[in-house]
Amino acid sequence: MKEDYQVLLFYKYTPVLKPEELWAWQKGICSALNLKGRIIVAKEGINGTLEGLKKDTEKYMEEFQKIGVSVETKPMGNFRDIQFKTSVGTGESFPKLKVKVKDELVSLKFGEDDVNPNELTGKHLPPKELKKWYEKNEDFVVVDMRNDYEFKVGHFKNSVNPKLENSRDLPKILPELENLKDKKVLTVCTGGVRCEKMSGYLLKKGFKEVYQLDGGMHSYMEKFPGEDFLGTLYTFDNRVVMDFGGKREVISECEKCKEKSERYVNCANDFCHKHLVVCENCSEADGTVFCSEPCKESQKVTV
Ligand SMILES: [Zn+2]
Ligand SMILES: [Zn+2]
Repeated sequence: MKEDYQVLLFYKYTPVLKPEELWAWQKGICSALNLKGRIIVAKEGINGTLEGLKKDTEKYMEEFQKIGVSVETKPMGNFRDIQFKTSVGTGESFPKLKVKVKDELVSLKFGEDDVNPNELTGKHLPPKELKKWYEKNEDFVVVDMRNDYEFKVGHFKNSVNPKLENSRDLPKILPELENLKDKKVLTVCTGGVRCEKMSGYLLKKGFKEVYQLDGGMHSYMEKFPGEDFLGTLYTFDNRVVMDFGGKREVISECEKCKEKSERYVNCANDFCHKHLVVCENCSEADGTVFCSEPCKESQKVTV
């Protein structure tokens, strides 16, 4: 029988007095429970995604939520109410475990315009409230805060795509969102972590009414699979896209033949690695893909 794997997605913005201690704690427990994935620890909190056997991920969540309860664990922060999003794993979603201490949970580099989500952030809108907005035809605009390639395979209906290449580019594309300043804006991303600061940033820049989707698309799709979302949810692990059931359409297409496809690949030229959708038929015999003729030529072995 195939073993039962689970993927966890979590974050929390909360002061961490001693990030190195939290880093060591995370490394320790993840290694002991055979969890793989990525965790970023910073003075402003934690952001991570992990996969392991279901029972091990359950144990992890239980232990994690004890941090901050006792005096000894206080320097690591307070994670009693951290929320976990779960999805079905494959056992191969991540090649290894990476735990890092960084300056920011999401690399935004807002500099002087940096916001503390505990002080300034968009109002959290629960998925069931968004469902009502859709049903009642509320006057609102969904702004997708993910990168352009994530948007391509799936997104909320009627959403605005600022075509970010990177979260850091938000200040650069801000002028294009200027016309939404007086509207009711809802920012969305995969699990919610990116919206915490990005929605705060919009408020700081004079947007009047900004909401963020609580728990992100992940939470909405868990509750309402196949509804109001076109395509599928891109993930930053080997699964590439996540499926929550429900009927859905494939909306992205192969960049070469334009057939519908959700097969994300990286250009096999080590100096390129461009991220693109290419179907099986348009790939090399071994499944690899080159984004262009020059990339293909460059990898030919010449004697
Ligand atoms: Zn194709
Ligand atoms: Zn290439």
